[in-house]
Amino acid sequence: MALHDHHDARDRLANVRGAIVKAARLADRDPAGVTLIAVSKTHPVEQIMPLLAAGHRSFGENRVQEAQEKWPGLKEAYPDAALHLVGRLQSKKADDAVQLFDAIHSVDRYSVITALAKAMEKRNRRPDCFLQVNIGKETQKGGCEIADVPVMLKEMRKAGLPVAGLMCVPPVDTEAAPYFALLAKLARDNGVQGMSMGMSGDYETAVMLGATHVRVGTALFGERS
Ligand SMILES: *Cc1c(COP(=O)(O)O)cnc(C)c1O
Repeated sequence: MALHDHHDARDRLANVRGAIVKAARLADRDPAGVTLIAVSKTHPVEQIMPLLAAGHRSFGENRVQEAQEKWPGLKEAYPDAALHLVGRLQSKKADDAVQLFDAIHSVDRYSVITALAKAMEKRNRRPDCFLQVNIGKETQKGGCEIADVPVMLKEMRKAGLPVAGLMCVPPVDTEAAPYFALLAKLARDNGVQGMSMGMSGDYETAVMLGATHVRVGTALFGERS
């Protein structure tokens, strides 16, 4: 039960925020340049409320349908809450995603770019878009190939998508730092500012290597069942 009470949620939030500030200072960065996205996937509204009550406003979900079930009511209560889609997006869900989300971190192929452009036109809503890069060259993972980053960014801009930056999910059970450093290099080489990288196990490392958005679930909400 302790996991669910407000006091505990506040403590976890304070701990993660504190660690971000510390990592940013070590790297001579302004902590305000790092957005903490609380990834609330699988967790019910009752577990999200304490963080909203504590003043937190950036959240992430990985499935459009789950977000549609949880977030319309929360957004009504907290209109300034920003919702980030961090999971894979199917083209047929682009319209729903544009309607509900304020940022999409998983743009990774032409069909999704086209579908998002069409949805943005129709809804007159333009969520920030991150190009997801398959940084560890894993066949099962989402993300475009590293070599395709320039052409994909060009296509996103041509389609009118607001390009916020690059996003990656490094291979599990390996040291993440080299992958974060590689994403930072790709961002620099391609002149984009945003870097969505770092999760519960490695967000401090990500901040030290330049992350502008860290996506933290477990460290804020506890283990997912
Ligand atoms: C679930 C998820 C996270 C959060 O993972 P934790 O290890 O629980 O912090 C971050 N990014 C993506 C893309 C996710 O799917």
